[in-house]
Amino acid sequence: MASRDPVDDLRRIAFYLERANEATYRVRAFRSAAAAIAKLPAEELAERAEAGTLAKLPGVGEVTARCIAESLAGEEPVYLRRVRSTEGTSLPAAAAALRDALRGDCHAHSDWSDGGSPIEEMALAAVELGHEYLVLTDHSPRLTVANGLSPARLRKQLDRVAELNDALPEGFRVLTGIEVDIRDDGSLDQENELLARLDVVVGSVHSKLRDESPRMTRRMLAAIANPHLDILGHMTGRKVAAAGEGDKGHRGGRTRPPSTFELDKVIEAVLEHGKAIEINSRPDRLDPPKRMLTVAVEAGCLFSIDTDAHAPGQLDWLGNGCERAALCGVPAERVVNTWSMERLLEWTAGHK
Ligand SMILES: [Zn+2]
Ligand SMILES: [Zn+2]
Repeated sequence: MASRDPVDDLRRIAFYLERANEATYRVRAFRSAAAAIAKLPAEELAERAEAGTLAKLPGVGEVTARCIAESLAGEEPVYLRRVRSTEGTSLPAAAAALRDALRGDCHAHSDWSDGGSPIEEMALAAVELGHEYLVLTDHSPRLTVANGLSPARLRKQLDRVAELNDALPEGFRVLTGIEVDIRDDGSLDQENELLARLDVVVGSVHSKLRDESPRMTRRMLAAIANPHLDILGHMTGRKVAAAGEGDKGHRGGRTRPPSTFELDKVIEAVLEHGKAIEINSRPDRLDPPKRMLTVAVEAGCLFSIDTDAHAPGQLDWLGNGCERAALCGVPAERVVNTWSMERLLEWTAGHK
């Protein structure tokens, strides 16, 4: 039997685990093993499989060694077959049509902030999903718990993205961006000069989520009016109990109610400034709630259906957002990531 590509198989296992919302540390073994053997000559790998010494390689353990050996023998690794069965059920027709219309994702994190994987791995997963672009939106300085990027690190990241884009397949691009923290006074947590350089700016509230409505409303209105902001991220900050969320101990333990603000005023500002409301696809966020989404649809808002992925497999969560968008009657032409990349960039540039 012809041998399979063990690097590919290990990455595929990681992808399925991430998509099933497994904790990053549980997935890391597979991504590390893939990276470790990608550098080795094929002959050495074959010899080690024969001699049973794969697990002696740094970064390879017993489980990953077995996967590699099976793969080299031309069999689908048992582990892969098992995790592949988590493959989602197919989407209802309207949601599937919306998913097909999406050309990219405007909210994703890499290991430069609190994501689990390098930019390149996120990009390759996006290519595989058929995206034309992925907007890299790592956190801003104030979010120290999420390893937010200082101005200097963001400048460095912009150089890295430019380099990477030269090496990535034709027809795909990593777009530059940020998930900038909306400060207490509604200002944005990054230098204006840098925000102006970025392709897409997602702005989100991450602190004082329990502020009373007038204060939260003022804060959000100021951020929406800021010419640098393009997309309002996870607008209520709520956390819901996600099905299949990693460890049992987490289940139901970290929920958070939506923050309170005057929805009509926020929607009015979004319309006035031509911004978009994010439909966040994370199973633990699903933000905004359907009742708010419906109001925003009726008001005529623009939307962006994003994953907020922190690992490559999570980039496949777009279906969650599409399902909710379809239920609430979001028209495809009002979803900015169904537009061509040129039109998307024209739209964001128009805000500056
Ligand atoms: Zn966020
Ligand atoms: Zn995020």
